[in-house]
Amino acid sequence: MTESDTIQLSTNTNDVRKEAEELIELIQQVRSRIDLPPIFKAKKRCFKQLDNTEELSLPNKKILLEDDIVELSKIDSREDLMTRLRSYSTNFHLIQRPVTALECAKHGWKDTNKITEKEPDTCVLSCDTCGNNIFVIAIKCKASEKVVNEVKKRYEAGLYNGHKESCQWRTQKCDDSVYCFPLVTIESGLEKFKADANNIISACVKEKQALPTLCHELDDRTLIKVKYLAEQTQKEPVELENIETAYILSLYGWELLHADIPGVKCDLCCTRKAFYLLKEPFDILRRHKSYCPYINAETANAYTPKGFSLRRTQKISGSDWMKDVLSLEYVILIKSRDLSLTYEDALDEKIRKLQNIL
Ligand SMILES: [Zn+2]
Ligand SMILES: [Zn+2]
Repeated sequence: MTESDTIQLSTNTNDVRKEAEELIELIQQVRSRIDLPPIFKAKKRCFKQLDNTEELSLPNKKILLEDDIVELSKIDSREDLMTRLRSYSTNFHLIQRPVTALECAKHGWKDTNKITEKEPDTCVLSCDTCGNNIFVIAIKCKASEKVVNEVKKRYEAGLYNGHKESCQWRTQKCDDSVYCFPLVTIESGLEKFKADANNIISACVKEKQALPTLCHELDDRTLIKVKYLAEQTQKEPVELENIETAYILSLYGWELLHADIPGVKCDLCCTRKAFYLLKEPFDILRRHKSYCPYINAETANAYTPKGFSLRRTQKISGSDWMKDVLSLEYVILIKSRDLSLTYEDALDEKIRKLQNIL
């Protein structure tokens, strides 16, 4: 190659583009030969987008590289993960899909809230680091389990492969430990249980709204404990019926929506509901998204706070963890009540004996 050839190669954009296209074709051939899945359609679109910015000068590229370095340290950022998770639209959640919003967010994808014209059920996700898009389809009710599993497998690989070759998310994902049940100590659990119930009650009293009817599968033993703790916590009488409802909501991780709008929210799975909008009983379990640590033992990655329990090596959901905290507190309260009764009985007996002597 002569010196003039080299100069021509670096200045002729059409030649560079042609070479790049040939290179992409070659990569695709190699990928198919070694059984790697094809690169997502969206990559081509991004390549075109880059074409429009062909005047991109060298200093700009350097800045991009520096940004990439900043991004690298953010793979395991909980704040960034939660920002991506919050971007997912109701449209994404309402329909069954091969991957959950949490899985996509853990792989660096956020929802653009755009849909494709031809398939309105398909959601368009994007990556802030490389700018690529992937399209998440809806699973049709008629699809067989075999087909569903096959599609899921393809998407699980696609969550990596949809990123550009140079993107940090191409080979990495946010660590599972970043999104888990956040409470650790029994004290923090109890404090949250009481404070959230209190906040819900206060807002309902202030706005003169009733607590909603709930749909739950709590057994009688747990209900007795909830009622007892509610009585012990709520010393002051309030103008509100069934206050234990607020404690049941709190047990399942539901916090007050807004001081002026009685309702509930779960920041872990980005769910919100105002009570006045409810048309049917509020399902404390199913209103959480399937991946929410309050109902999903796998993502919660929590273990019982009961040190003596046989289940202590088994992962439990956040709501089961809260129930265990409640049981521990209930036992302590009942024991101290019984002890104080025994003490009072002994004191009465002593006084009686003294009175007899005198
Ligand atoms: Zn990317
Ligand atoms: Zn939730």
